[in-house]
Amino acid sequence: MITSPVDRVSAVMDRLRRAGLRTTLARRGVVDALGEAAGERRHLRATEVHQRLTGRGLGVELSTVHRVLTHLVEVGVAHTVPVGGTATFGLADRPHHHAVCQGCGGMRQLTA
Ligand SMILES: [Zn+2]
Repeated sequence: MITSPVDRVSAVMDRLRRAGLRTTLARRGVVDALGEAAGERRHLRATEVHQRLTGRGLGVELSTVHRVLTHLVEVGVAHTVPVGGTATFGLADRPHHHAVCQGCGGMRQLTA
């Protein structure tokens, strides 16, 4: 199944709405950032999500990013994998495996 990143983000936002979470700029921004990262086969730390949002002019506090990420994990559209003692977040809309390097601690998703 091939879907564009935009369709993928829309599908995730639909799931959030069905779970009773309104679309807010912060939620949309965080899902966009995780969608981009999924295309790069990456997870993001909360601070990296925050950097991407502020980089595009979205004035969102880091504490808000943390809260949104927690909600996404609770709803099941995102999951968290600890890397080097820090939580990283990725979209969980498609099953994927993670490879963590025992040398550098770097992590890659094996599929997008
Ligand atoms: Zn993942």
